Amino acid sequence: MLVFAAALGLSAWLVAAAPEHVWNGLQDLLPLGLSSARPSRVALTLALLAAAIAAGYWLWQRRPLDAALAFALLAGALGWIQLGGLELRSWLLAAAAVIGLGVVYASWRLAFLDALTGLPNRRALDETLARLSGDYALAMVDVDHFKQFNDKHGHDAGDRVLAAVARSLGRTRAATAFRFGGEEFCLLFRRPELARDACEEARQAIEALRVALPRKPAAKSGAKGGGKSAEKKREATVQVTASIGVAARGGTRRAAPEVLKAADQCLYKAKDKGRNQVVALA
Ligand code: GH3
Ligand code: MG
Ligand code: MG
Repeated sequence: MLVFAAALGLSAWLVAAAPEHVWNGLQDLLPLGLSSARPSRVALTLALLAAAIAAGYWLWQRRPLDAALAFALLAGALGWIQLGGLELRSWLLAAAAVIGLGVVYASWRLAFLDALTGLPNRRALDETLARLSGDYALAMVDVDHFKQFNDKHGHDAGDRVLAAVARSLGRTRAATAFRFGGEEFCLLFRRPELARDACEEARQAIEALRVALPRKPAAKSGAKGGGKSAEKKREATVQVTASIGVAARGGTRRAAPEVLKAADQCLYKAKDKGRNQVVALA
């Protein structure tokens, strides 16, 4: 954040208040043989350079986000040059803004949402906790014996179950659900007094889930009565349980890592006591 703030401050100063000799100095540093050191030219050169770098990254890594960024920068730069009439300029600048917003949104999704479950991820949780003040409670949710589950039913079935558990946790009363990592999830309650009951409901909801296993290609049996309906009958469902540890902010437990640690210790207790249960710190 400090580096980002410093870069923003420097840019603002360069555009708004930097004396002429600074621009003259920059002119010597920048390529494209700029004839004058007018700020717009320097900024334009920087935008075109950035577009070229983004395009280079796109050719190298083939990530759509880099291509979008290159187009946004190029459209912005061309709009700036005022290529063509006023109408074309407006279109170019509007395109740059729309693509730029798309890039920001896609980057946000990549950074803060978990791809498998669609829930906010660990990074989102950390950022949310860093901004929180006041009371809250955290619950750590861990799917029981999930390694065995994967070994028995396969990783694809495991992925399906995680997505179903995530959907179920997302419906937890008064809570925001996050995927903490692997088969662990976190629930954040802004009203700590509701946490224990809501976690018990969440545990029961997970236990009640029936997840259809990915369909294996049916073996040719030659038996009569095959076809779609028979295939449907063969579709098996599976079930999992989860253990939950809950702790609220309070007393000497002020910082988020301390609350998380306390919830994690409760989770271990729930596992020790036989799993498929909620343990809350009194
Ligand atoms: P416990 O009841 O003590 O929590 O046992 P466990 O087997 O659930 O715990 P362990 O930490 O030993 O294993 C977690 C397993 O979760 C191991 C890993 O294969 C699986 N896992 C983690 N992330 C994913 C994922 O994204 N997809 C699938 N299918 N499995 C995952
Ligand atoms: Mg675990
Ligand atoms: Mg587990």
